[in-house]
Formats: sequence, structure tokens, C-alpha cells
Amino acid sequence: MFESLSDRLGGVFDRLRGRGALTEADVRAAMREVRVALLEADVALPVARQFVDGVTEQAIGQNVLRSVTPGQQVVKIVNDALVAMLGADESELLLDVTPPAVVMMVGLQGSGKTTTTAKIAKRLTGRERKKVLMASLDVNRPNAQEQLATLGTQVEVATLPIVPGQQPVEIARRAMQAAKLQGYDVLMLDTAGRLHVDQALMDEMKAVADIARPQEILLVVDALTGQDAVNVAQNFSDQVPLTGVVLTRMDGDARGGAALSMRAVTGKPIKFAGTGEKLDALEAFHPERVAGRILG
Ligand code: GDP
Repeated sequence: MFESLSDRLGGVFDRLRGRGALTEADVRAAMREVRVALLEADVALPVARQFVDGVTEQAIGQNVLRSVTPGQQVVKIVNDALVAMLGADESELLLDVTPPAVVMMVGLQGSGKTTTTAKIAKRLTGRERKKVLMASLDVNRPNAQEQLATLGTQVEVATLPIVPGQQPVEIARRAMQAAKLQGYDVLMLDTAGRLHVDQALMDEMKAVADIARPQEILLVVDALTGQDAVNVAQNFSDQVPLTGVVLTRMDGDARGGAALSMRAVTGKPIKFAGTGEKLDALEAFHPERVAGRILG
């Protein structure tokens, strides 16, 4: 991931660093190349434009151009801007409430939502020693609830017993009750996915959120879908109070645009990256490390 963006930017910056002095025109030319590289990596157009405008403004400042190593300084400005674009600091889950804390997972079908629910549950029970209950509210897709139960067995996390015929809001209510009565620290609600964003899906999510009052509403999106992932995120974040994003399939050869645009488009941090099918293939998202990888 990011390879081609990294190569393109590397070329631009090598040329900049290779020069002793820089003029404003040099910087503007380099930034035009940066803009093209970002767009080719599938970064959303307004995000790329804003990024390049901000960096250009800083980079053509006189103390940059007159400095001893102007190329170096411009690269540093780009690095800092990339880190900011990716969300600055690492963002953990905020579950510090009277238990049970509720984490609601939302996203399109096939984005990796159910797998990610189990991955996060595994992480919470393991390194954070929380007592976690998972419940699937997906009554549309056949076997969705069974899929979560199977994953629960694999990661040794409890799942709410399945009651055939129950609707999502009723399941959410039952899950809340069970989590409270049985002393769970965290309840994870895996909501139904859809093939496309539609109103019925949004209404269902809002009804569930009203009952469960989640501390975290995490949108799961597939990094391989590039611009589509960004559009999906925009749609969800317009309608649901998301608290964060999980990008799955970061192990694939995505060009990186989804990761780079997500923060600017949703205003919410990327909290985790899914890096494989295995249930421990989940990483905290570190903006600095990702920026470092892009800039080599
Ligand atoms: P859902 O419909 O959104 O609940 O999607 P699933 O959780 O069922 O995942 C769909 C497929 O994507 C499964 O085969 C998962 O193993 C796979 N998957 C999920 N996350 C990742 C990831 O980060 N990397 C890779 N390579 N595969 C993933």
C-alpha cells in the first residue's frame, strides 16, 4: 500500500532537495506534482486541493526559501501536513464509562464489519482484560448472527444467544440488559450491513443508537474501494454521529486515497487498520508512522 504514491513523492522531493536554492516557482511546480500524485492515489479532490494549498502557502514563506536547506524544509512541511491529514495522534477507543460501554459497528456489507467486531473484541479481552459481549443485529443476511457466534468461539468472546425472529431494536435492548445484568465491561453491537447506503439502514441504525447510547460508533470501510470508501464515509457521517473509522484490507494494494481522505471528509479519526483475515490482524492507526511510510 502507498507504494506508488511514495515513489512519486520521493521523486519530487529528491529533485527539491538536490537544489541549493529554491524559488517560489520551483515550489509551485513541485506542489503541482504532489497534487497529481495525491489524485492518482485516489485522494478526494477537495482534500488534495486543500492539502496542496496549505503546504504551498507555508513553503513559499521567505524563511523557508532563504534557509540553507530549503528543499529539506519543504519536505518537513509536507510531512507535518500529511500527519495532520491522517489525524495527528493515535486515537484509542474511549470506553471509560460506567459499564457496559457500548461500541456500535456500522458499515456496508462486505466491508469487514463482522470480522472487525471480533478482532476488536479479541483485543479488548486480551490486552485490556475487559469482559466483552458481542451481539449481531443483522437479521437481513442469512447466518449473519451465526457468523458472529462462530467468530466469538474462535476469539473466546461471549455472544448474545440468538432468538430467531427478533428485530434489531429488540436485540439491542436484550443485549443491553444482558450486558448490565451479567457485568460485562463492553457490549459490541454488529449492525446490519447493506449493499448501498439507504434510508432504511440509516433509520435502523438511529433507532439502535437511541436504545444503546453507544460511546463509540465505528464505521468500517474497505480501503481497497478508494473514492467509494470516502463517499460511503461521507454518507454515514452525515447521518450518524460516528466517533471513528476502521479501515480494513490495509494489507491489500490500495493506493491509499481512502486512508488519506478519511479524516478530512468525516472529521473523525481512523482508530484501527485491518491488516488481514486473521483475527489478530488489527492495528492501532498511527498517523506519524503512516506518513513516515509514505515519505520513505
Ligand atoms: P461484513 O459483511 O462487513 O460483516 O464483512 P465480513 O466481516 O464478513 O468480511 C468479509 C471478508 O473480508 C471476510 O472474508 C474477511 O475475512 C475479510 N476481511 C475483513 N477484514 C479484512 C482485512 O483487514 N484484510 C483482509 N485481507 N481481509 C479482511
